[in-house]
Amino acid sequence: MIDTMINSIFIDGKWQRAESDKTTTVYNPATLEPIAEVAYGGEVETKKAITAAANAFTTWSEMTGRERSHILYKAYQLMLEETDRLAKILTTEQGKPLKEATGEVKGAANFLLWYAEEASRSYGEWIPSSIKSKRMLVIPQPVGVVGAITPWNFPSSMITRKIAPALAAGCTVVLKPAPETPLSAIEIVKILERAGMPNGVVNLVTGDAEAIGNTLLTSKDVRLITFTGSTAVGKYLMRESAEHVKKLALELGGHAPIIVFDDADLEKAASMSLASKFRNNGQTCICANRLYVHESVKEKFTQALTEKVKQLKIGNGLEDGTDLGPLINEQASIKVQTHLDDAVKKGAQIVCGGTKWNGNMDGYFYEPTILSNITEDMQVMNEETFGPIIPIQAFSDEQAVIEKANDTDYGLAAYIFTEKTSRAIRVSEKLDYGIVGVNDVFPAVAEAPFGGIKQSGIGKEGGHYGMDEFLERKFVSMGI
Ligand code: ADP
Repeated sequence: MIDTMINSIFIDGKWQRAESDKTTTVYNPATLEPIAEVAYGGEVETKKAITAAANAFTTWSEMTGRERSHILYKAYQLMLEETDRLAKILTTEQGKPLKEATGEVKGAANFLLWYAEEASRSYGEWIPSSIKSKRMLVIPQPVGVVGAITPWNFPSSMITRKIAPALAAGCTVVLKPAPETPLSAIEIVKILERAGMPNGVVNLVTGDAEAIGNTLLTSKDVRLITFTGSTAVGKYLMRESAEHVKKLALELGGHAPIIVFDDADLEKAASMSLASKFRNNGQTCICANRLYVHESVKEKFTQALTEKVKQLKIGNGLEDGTDLGPLINEQASIKVQTHLDDAVKKGAQIVCGGTKWNGNMDGYFYEPTILSNITEDMQVMNEETFGPIIPIQAFSDEQAVIEKANDTDYGLAAYIFTEKTSRAIRVSEKLDYGIVGVNDVFPAVAEAPFGGIKQSGIGKEGGHYGMDEFLERKFVSMGI
């Protein structure tokens, strides 16, 4: 047990326990050891948090953008100063290798920096009127109280990516982190507190996901829900938001293809496919789920990728040199095994990996796995695996592979490897995805828009687009 944090609920500037005194245990997914005990809040606490956020809204939204910017910038500095400590906490509750956790914390801090800068740049518009006696203004205003629901795969960056633009815009927030990873959320809120965030502007409720979610959904005061997680829960939030016509920003599942053309730099394509697939053990919504490689280079590419995969070191993320940590829980492990069994039953060949890793820890580890002899009816080609399996299929025709890549309900990220500029542009335009990486698999940055189309989501996070989600545009029509 590294900590007891039963006062993990933060409402109106006060850390508190659940009124019921109930708690829930947080486990280290590498060892399955308990690491902390946090408050198990629900409806009562969420109602109080919403009231606090609604009361703080007027003062916070009427502060100048520059004033809000100073607080966000201070939080950015504090987060950077504490990167090492925060990364260790992140790895301990989530499992990813420390080097990845360190990268995530720095990336999370970047969202604070970017939106500290954007806070003072929320411009309106003066529309040239067609009527001489009228003047027309558009003024941006914050939407109000925001409910932010975040997942466990990026316990730090998913939070700042949502709450930094909300706060910069002048909104107040009730945050509900994933039950698996509340510790990073607690640390971020403590940093915002130390940076001088006024009481009630950011509130945190850990505990019962459904009860907290439903209270956010049924409250008239919550004007926007920003969510990252599964498409199933995203659809539920959409349906339930209809009652009060809430705004929604949804980052949902993905099923990313990587297409390696015959003119690709194969070494680069192999290294980047490795990075895309096995970062966070394949548990990212933009990570490659299926690989299409031109038939003329498939063998060479598969060989290069296999050599790299065989060098990956599995283990506890806190240990030096670890490349792959554990899966988050047993459910994740069962899904990976089910996808593998289904593929093998339908004729897939295991190129490497293909089994659970029997290390010296109790967590749910899985060997990084490459599959070939792939057919379209396999689960791995149709659903998000969220684990370290990559199926490789050959293709011969550009148009046909684009159609295969697009043949899914998802539309978050797709990647292509080609050295031809004309092909890069042509194919990028035809892929039905919100994000296309060309010779690049790391498209999530603070300054650019991240978001899916189709059933992968609504809205953008990052860049000036990310702040637009939290602003209404009020039209002021003036007779003069
Ligand atoms: P994942 O499969 O990545 O865990 P989920 O969609 O289940 O995706 O979880 C993402 C976030 O949504 C987590 O914070 C989780 O607690 C929360 N969540 C799950 N179910 C609900 C619900 N019914 N209402 C509100 N939040 C929910």
